[in-house]
Amino acid sequence: MSFLSNAHTHTTFSDGKHTPEEMLAAAKQLGFVSLGFSCHGYQGFDFDYSMTKEGQREYQAAVRRLQAESLEDRTLPRVWLGIEEDGLTPRDWREQNRRELDYVVVSSHYLTRDYEGEPVYVDGLPERLRHYTNHVFDGDMMAMVQQYFDLHVQALLSMPVSIIGHFDLVRIYAKSHNLFDEHCKEYRRIALDALEKAFPCGGLLEINTGAIARGKREDPYPTPELLSAWHDMGGRITITSDCHDAKNLDFFFPEAVQLAKACGFKTAFRLGTGNELFEEVAL
Ligand SMILES: [Zn+2]
Ligand SMILES: [Zn+2]
Repeated sequence: MSFLSNAHTHTTFSDGKHTPEEMLAAAKQLGFVSLGFSCHGYQGFDFDYSMTKEGQREYQAAVRRLQAESLEDRTLPRVWLGIEEDGLTPRDWREQNRRELDYVVVSSHYLTRDYEGEPVYVDGLPERLRHYTNHVFDGDMMAMVQQYFDLHVQALLSMPVSIIGHFDLVRIYAKSHNLFDEHCKEYRRIALDALEKAFPCGGLLEINTGAIARGKREDPYPTPELLSAWHDMGGRITITSDCHDAKNLDFFFPEAVQLAKACGFKTAFRLGTGNELFEEVAL
């Protein structure tokens, strides 16, 4: 099947290459039934890549306008307003997000917002991640991994979640920069434990293909092992391209569908075409 929807879409309001209008035109071209926008929401720091409060307000207004258009003109994919919310976002703003947005993708991108005066990204510079791990954890990569998953699980359980963003993002440079062996028993145990702890958050786990499109990885998040475990727990999934460029809106989707099936899933959830936020579709 073709999934024909994407709930994880970035635009020029944060770090995407194209405007919401351009993204919607690309989605229409692909025959999408729905499209959700999820720019990096206000988080109180690191404004190079996330929105300011004012920026987020403008973004919300722009997407709401497109949403109204999509409800008028049924040849357009149904538009939904979301954001990608980092786990370190202040709580009062997270609460406000829940009131003003259709949905949230909750992701963790940082180990800390301040180490030597700068944030430490999991998906930033691998050398900085190594430097941080050497100094804070005496080089113990599994301690760094544990910190990432602890933060992510804490963020997921502290507020309602629509979509669980790139669950095991911490793998991003594991192989390419030889940070740790993602197939080793210890890493897999930490990741699986975290997934089990996160289950009660109730969010859809995304199969996220974004790192492949950007040449950072050859496989999506999360691993087949985690996906199979999620299936066995009774978890639900969606498929997203974490899209920063209109040409990649459905990148690697056929392969993601096959992966989901191989991990036991018969259905996945995509943004709806009517009033329901998500609809279940057969794979
Ligand atoms: Zn992200
Ligand atoms: Zn994203």
